Amino acid sequence: MSTKRAVKVRFAPSPTGDLHVGNIRTALFDWAYARHTGGTFLFRIEDTDTTRVTDEYIQAAIETLKWLGLQWDEGPEVGGANGPYLQSQRLDIYAEWAQKFLTQGDAYHCYCSPDELEAVREGQRKANVAPGYNGHCRDLTAEQIAAFKAQGREAVVRMRMPDGSTTFTDEIRGDVTFDHKFVPDFVLVRADGSPLYTLAVAIDDILMGVTHVLRGEDLLSSTPRQIRVYQAMGVKLDDYPVFAHLPFVMGQDNAKLSKRNGEVSIAWYREQGYLPEAICNYLALLGWSPGDDRENISMKELTELFTVEKVHSSPARFDMKKLEAINGDKIRALSLEEFTTWTLPFLIKANVIAGSAEEIELVKQALPLIQERIVKLDEAPALLRFLFVKEFAVDPDAVAKISDDAAKDILRRSKKELEALAAWNHESIEGALRTSLIEELGLKPRIAFTALRIATTGSTISPPLFESMELLGKEACLTRISAALAL
Ligand code: GLU
Repeated sequence: MSTKRAVKVRFAPSPTGDLHVGNIRTALFDWAYARHTGGTFLFRIEDTDTTRVTDEYIQAAIETLKWLGLQWDEGPEVGGANGPYLQSQRLDIYAEWAQKFLTQGDAYHCYCSPDELEAVREGQRKANVAPGYNGHCRDLTAEQIAAFKAQGREAVVRMRMPDGSTTFTDEIRGDVTFDHKFVPDFVLVRADGSPLYTLAVAIDDILMGVTHVLRGEDLLSSTPRQIRVYQAMGVKLDDYPVFAHLPFVMGQDNAKLSKRNGEVSIAWYREQGYLPEAICNYLALLGWSPGDDRENISMKELTELFTVEKVHSSPARFDMKKLEAINGDKIRALSLEEFTTWTLPFLIKANVIAGSAEEIELVKQALPLIQERIVKLDEAPALLRFLFVKEFAVDPDAVAKISDDAAKDILRRSKKELEALAAWNHESIEGALRTSLIEELGLKPRIAFTALRIATTGSTISPPLFESMELLGKEACLTRISAALAL
């Protein structure tokens, strides 16, 4: 991407809810591009719409970026030479520029009421012409203005869009032209004095020295308005940021993913036990590839390989199954220490453990048994609960499977074998049970061991049986088998 200046990329969400998959894909590409070029990654919070952005969502956005490991160089908490980085703290700057635009004649006061604007839109709908402001207040006389004021009308500030068109080069889709017939004069400042997105974003990108705007394609049509603001600011063409609009992330059903869909919120993935590396890995390859068909990529590789040229121009489809598979891969790649750190909060939250040192020790012994099997961390509590329950009970669904004579016989025989065992480890347990149940009784392993699994872990689904029994201990196993025999 061509620019002579040192690269500065920004991620500038308006947190009107939890950040979602689309936002994070944008943030990740922004970050990766900044890291790839050795440039700066700037994080700005666009919170001028105070009716929709809350402090809680702002904080959550900051936390999410941190959690994902997308460290920013300028922005909230870390500061920087171009702050503040919350737009709500920059209102004076926007007001000053809006005033300048008014003075220059680039902008004007518009006194049209919402009802009048709606009537204009209605007329346009009927006449089947493009909707938009009709320029009513463009050239008001002093008398007209005085009359509006006398009526108690409050004015918004509108940007004057000249006739003609705006063309810019989008790094992903090439030259894009907007005919100004479809870009009517737009509001910069509301009647209450608050700035609109188009004003604030354009001013900040310029004042903060942003060189590259990589963002979702939903914002493509706002670009000519931003360029109009740059012109009014007197920015030289060379100092415009380079634009690249990333294609949408679509849902599996071909619908656009949206904030209103709970499953797109990153907080949801976090609660389910997706690892940040898995989310980043998956999203990195959603609409971009380094030129091969790999499915695994580390953050380091991403920063080495990421270029905007390789971003696809067609929409990407979100595939939950693929993300799950990648999450499973990342879980398997964790060291025991890391896996423990990630899993403990899930076990504590699900009340499997309180968090004592003794419990953590047992968790560490048990985790290798499930590391190969789970694809999300939130599967861990159900699999490990049997090791920690005070009042053991068999799953109601599984009781029938150990109630018949055949199952009771298996349990009775197992109990006898296990009682006689001198050494309690998974090899000795397995050896004794295989000899007795499979070789001597001729049972199918699945039948024999399902009964034991239910009796000792309470469920038909558990970590590997003999290792589970070893960890549970001889006494607990025998007590549970006796209890199962009494059911
Ligand atoms: N704040 C805008 C949004 O969240 C994005 C700004 C931009 O990337 O230009 O929709």
